[in-house]
Amino acid sequence: MKSKQSTITRRQQFKLFLSIMAAFAILFLTLGLIIFNLFQSSTYKSIDKDIKIEMASVKKQPTMKQDDSQMGPHGPNDHFEDKKKEPSPKAPFQASILVFNNNGKLLNKSSLGNRYSILKNIKLNKKALNKKQTLLVKNMNFRSILIKVSKNNNNPMYAGHYVLIMQNIDTQIQAMTNFIKILSLTFFIFWVIALVVSYFLARINMLPIVKSWKQQTEFVNDAAHELRTPLTIIQGKLEYMLTRPNKKIIDEAESISVSLDEVSRLNNLTNNLLDLARFDQATTELHFEYTQPEFFLKDPIEPFKDIINSQSKVFQINLYHHPTLYLDRDKIKQLLIILLDNATKYTPKNGTIRIYDQIEGSKYQFIVSDTGVGISDADKQRVFHRFYRVDKSRNQRSGGHGLGLAIAKQIVENHHGRIFIQDNLPHGSEFVVELPIKKNH
Ligand code: ADP
Repeated sequence: MKSKQSTITRRQQFKLFLSIMAAFAILFLTLGLIIFNLFQSSTYKSIDKDIKIEMASVKKQPTMKQDDSQMGPHGPNDHFEDKKKEPSPKAPFQASILVFNNNGKLLNKSSLGNRYSILKNIKLNKKALNKKQTLLVKNMNFRSILIKVSKNNNNPMYAGHYVLIMQNIDTQIQAMTNFIKILSLTFFIFWVIALVVSYFLARINMLPIVKSWKQQTEFVNDAAHELRTPLTIIQGKLEYMLTRPNKKIIDEAESISVSLDEVSRLNNLTNNLLDLARFDQATTELHFEYTQPEFFLKDPIEPFKDIINSQSKVFQINLYHHPTLYLDRDKIKQLLIILLDNATKYTPKNGTIRIYDQIEGSKYQFIVSDTGVGISDADKQRVFHRFYRVDKSRNQRSGGHGLGLAIAKQIVENHHGRIFIQDNLPHGSEFVVELPIKKNH
């Protein structure tokens, strides 16, 4: 049972881990792609801008030069001179210009210098006219555009020819490759960190689930166990009666009364189980109202006076305070009955059961104290657990299932209060219920 449960838990944990991992991976990949695309497009944009400048300088018409007043009269040589000086302040260093005639013959071989050996492999591709392209020539990358220069161009070198403007982009490509490497490495490292974090997150997230699962299984097991005992007794008694069909009811009175006792135990148990289940699902409806202790302590106390006296025990009531509290009276009555019932059950003859109250700061406390068997320090917390009984055999006889105090605790917590046990010296215990006082009402 346990191993099956832990396998399911582990599988669940692994699934959770996988989904967190996948989520992080998708997140990082998307982020990486966006960053890289931005970087790439901004790099290409700046290259294309350079090419545009170069293109403008190639296409430059005499009419377009009106701004350059200090250049003097514009002759065909002006541009050459202009170019020699500095074609454009932003003209790229890595730019090469190939001039082709209509038949694809390279015309500016001489001006290419030692670059010719590389660039001679480039053929004129008229289809690519006016289109930006990335060319790979002998392992070198170029961004290029082919333009047709008009016949009126003031530079006879270009006029009427095809001009291929190329810019070497190896540096930029290298930068992009480096960027990808660094980005991938960084994201990988962060992904691993995210994995470790998500592993622990998955574990932490599973903890409450595992805990409540365990509690639930334990609860169901215990409940089934508790239900089985009275059912077995009733079954035994009924079967026994069936073997004596001619007997009168009066002859079987004992069996019937035992069965009825067990039925009432079952009734109690199912009611308690239902109460707890409702607390768990938070479906218990609480009817809060402003009230004072005399309105919720009096009713449950009354019947106990007779019960306790009839068992030769003393019942003392010392309630003196009247603060205003905000609570569900029926629930607090139920809580008080549980405490008084326990005090009566676990206190022997001639013992004393006392209920008294006090004010501690902004809290109101009512205390049910007894001179009974007492509760050890180790059990002071455990008695509030479901189905916990200090002495199982004795409690079987006294009819308890170990649910009373669990319900009591739930009730107190629903009232934002607390319940705890202290020793009643020289022997016995005191159950302290502490509730907040409502001021200014
Ligand atoms: P039960 O129905 O068995 O009384 P409870 O939840 O009310 O269940 O109490 C849990 C256990 O706490 C009891 O079985 C008993 O051992 C112990 N207990 C409760 N009240 C007292 C008390 N007044 N004195 C001594 N032991 C007590």
